[in-house]
Amino acid sequence: MSSNRRPLKSLGQNFLVDQNVVEKIINSARIQPDDAVLEIGPGRGALTDHLAERAGRLVLIEFDHALAAYHRERLKENPRVTVIDADVLKVDLDALLSETPGKWNVVANLPYNISTEVLFRLLEVHHRLSRMTLMLQKEVGDRLASEPDCSAYGVTTVLLGLWFDIRRSFIVHPGSFHPRPKVDSAILNFTPLLTPRAEVGNENIFRGVVKAAFSMRRKTLANCLKSAECTKGTDLELLLKSCDIDGRRRGETLSLEEFARLSRWLSENAPLVA
Ligand code: SAM
Repeated sequence: MSSNRRPLKSLGQNFLVDQNVVEKIINSARIQPDDAVLEIGPGRGALTDHLAERAGRLVLIEFDHALAAYHRERLKENPRVTVIDADVLKVDLDALLSETPGKWNVVANLPYNISTEVLFRLLEVHHRLSRMTLMLQKEVGDRLASEPDCSAYGVTTVLLGLWFDIRRSFIVHPGSFHPRPKVDSAILNFTPLLTPRAEVGNENIFRGVVKAAFSMRRKTLANCLKSAECTKGTDLELLLKSCDIDGRRRGETLSLEEFARLSRWLSENAPLVA
């Protein structure tokens, strides 16, 4: 079994070929000897052997059946490694990660076409994680590490920022991959917080408020909230006044703490709690 078949564009297969970058990613993942590590998309295994060497347990999720079979065959003598041949978006991550006591260290060079969706799946299991080291398209990384009122600030910044401390570690240029992607990439380190950065009340409501606020970037916050499910039946003027937030502002100018204030008030007072 070989891993040398032509890379599949549909699965975002840009394989890392730069050993310096591999080493830097592995160092920045800070794997401890008894860590349980999850690698999403091992591909041809640029990171995998380093992870298998260092981790107490390693689970690989790979959607490309040929590559999953390649790793299963090659690592069959290693009882600490499990290969899951599946679409990570269809795997019940909470059930998988709860099988092992302790928290998981996630390492992945994510396929760009599904990276935001994967981020939201990982957000759902933040309480099961000790650290994440993820390679993302630089632009997605910029969004995660941005501040209010800049163009990169958006839904992912606020929702992921509630539960993770996110730091950009370094940039990776297209020449480090085969085939070369069109854009730069970035390695980001995510440290899960034990308590959320702000008290938001009902998290479904928080998600609803944040998504609504960014749904129409040119409109005011009041206009965006008017059509949102999470504010149905709510006196918007009272909501904004109670939270001391000017409804003429744009959603993208609100800090995480201000979103939390809106969400808390709605959780306590909204007629329709999601
Ligand atoms: N980790 C390898 C590396 O650094 O060279 C490969 C990274 S490549 C950018 C992304 C990998 O994710 C590919 O191996 C691809 O087959 C796999 N992949 C794509 N979509 C996936 C999905 N939905 N679930 C699991 N793996 C997926």
